[in-house]
Amino acid sequence: MAEYQLPSAAITRRGLMLVLSSPSGAGKSTIARNLLETDPGLSISVSVTTRKRRGNEIEGVHYHFISQREFERLRDSGALLEWAQVHGNFYGTPREPVEEAMAEGRDMLFDIDWQGAQQLQENMRADVVSVFILPPTMAELRSRLHRRAEDAEDVIATRLTNARDEIGHWREYDYVVINDDLDRAFPAVQAIVKAERLRRDRRPGLFDFVQELLGQDAQ
Ligand code: 5GP
Repeated sequence: MAEYQLPSAAITRRGLMLVLSSPSGAGKSTIARNLLETDPGLSISVSVTTRKRRGNEIEGVHYHFISQREFERLRDSGALLEWAQVHGNFYGTPREPVEEAMAEGRDMLFDIDWQGAQQLQENMRADVVSVFILPPTMAELRSRLHRRAEDAEDVIATRLTNARDEIGHWREYDYVVINDDLDRAFPAVQAIVKAERLRRDRRPGLFDFVQELLGQDAQ
């Protein structure tokens, strides 16, 4: 055990906004869930949506399910940090929980599409780390959507068409992870988070730490 304690200024840092995007079925939700289960420093941004709740979804955990009218009210009053229409439904990120987390230096995870990623990158560039998850093949993507069997056949067909559009935005992300095997893809995303937390520009307290370090006698 070390006999010294690092001053808290050396440890504290700005919160980061981890944006995960991918076409539906590429495994983004599993990676997000694993991250949340293993990383106590990370909490999820719960979006609002006008989409109907699926059988296994819980209000306030997976989404806040709201009406079109309520969505418009939130959007028009500036309560959403970003919003988009995806597969014919509206989705948006409530502003307040994110601003609170950033102010307290807590990290947040966003499971949002390329339109949302673009808006966050434009407005909050310094805090955003964006990761795009790719499926290994289109055939695998199709079979994952079928295996999931949460959606009707026509919804799956729409999602496959939309997948190509979503994939077209891969260059707009800081990192790209191919999810051919969860045992490789998940540690890759963990490594990204770990490295990004160590970035010098997220750690203003380092300045004082190093000043103090240089002022010490090595004896
Ligand atoms: P699903 O309906 O399958 O839960 O989500 C459909 C798509 O909407 C996913 O790609 C998901 O990442 C995206 N999405 C979920 N919440 C938000 C949000 O708040 N903003 C944006 N821009 N996209 C979202």
